[in-house]
Amino acid sequence: MSCKQTTLHRSEILELEMDLTGTCNLRCPLCTRNYAHAGHLLKRNVRSFKEIKEQLDTFTNLEVFYMAGNISEPTLHPEVKEICRYLVDRGVAIELFTNGSTHNPKWWAELGEILSSNDRIYFTICGSTQELHEKYRVGSKLQDILDNHQGFISTNKEGIDHIQHIMFKYNREDYESEAMKSIIARFSKTFNVDTEGQRTFNEYVKSFDKDLIRPEDERKRAIDALFNIKPKPGESSDIEIKCMSLRDRKIYIDQFGQISPCYGHAEYEGPGHFSGEVFDYGEVLSFKFKDCFKCERRIQKLIDVMELDFVC
Ligand code: SF4
Repeated sequence: MSCKQTTLHRSEILELEMDLTGTCNLRCPLCTRNYAHAGHLLKRNVRSFKEIKEQLDTFTNLEVFYMAGNISEPTLHPEVKEICRYLVDRGVAIELFTNGSTHNPKWWAELGEILSSNDRIYFTICGSTQELHEKYRVGSKLQDILDNHQGFISTNKEGIDHIQHIMFKYNREDYESEAMKSIIARFSKTFNVDTEGQRTFNEYVKSFDKDLIRPEDERKRAIDALFNIKPKPGESSDIEIKCMSLRDRKIYIDQFGQISPCYGHAEYEGPGHFSGEVFDYGEVLSFKFKDCFKCERRIQKLIDVMELDFVC
């Protein structure tokens, strides 16, 4: 792709991320669901499998489907197994991020029969005891996740199951404990992430203990430094937006089917940026939207150097 390219045709999209319902069964403090500025996204809408399939059929060269749910738990969609079957049949790799706190082990065993070696599933556990786990995963039962994971691997032997652990200041020590090691050993792979730095700058609808739910000190300093130098639209003519959506040919679709270049864009600028066959990134690249600062050339470099991979 030429670096001058400013549009993408639908057929050029390789990856997409979709919210399936707009609902979730947990109340994690730093979740987008708790952002004061993101209230416009919190609308329940369950599109039928038929409608979702018709939309996905238009992306003819899709390779990866992120069933991540920025504001939704994906497994709450009543036809999520049908969606998975369709994607597997198409050869589109599924990246399913779940809180693992829905349904029962039998349901998860059925899902295990559907997912292939091409796919990956991530169960999030943030502590080795119920008390630690639920400090962040509010409303979740650790034992239920372990049982549901057991159900999944009873039928799926592909080694695609991951434990996702989100690191905060409060659970760093626990991560090294014997109890946590034995939980990790139940899974085929681990996927560790640090808490998303940007989230410390938002206003929240429901309060929580901000001294407890925060990044580790070094990471917090790096994030603070980055946000202190963030550029604003019109501030300088020397701004170059290296849009990751355009670079990776990856888009975001909300629970209503509206398309945005990325999730952050839907969150800050409202949904429904793209329609038709050709997606025009002109306004994004001219830095019309202040939250595109994350993709500004120098900020991107800093994110790389400081390994703040989860900021955007
Ligand atoms: S934040 Fe803006 S520039 Fe970055 S990926 Fe999203 S739309 Fe593109």
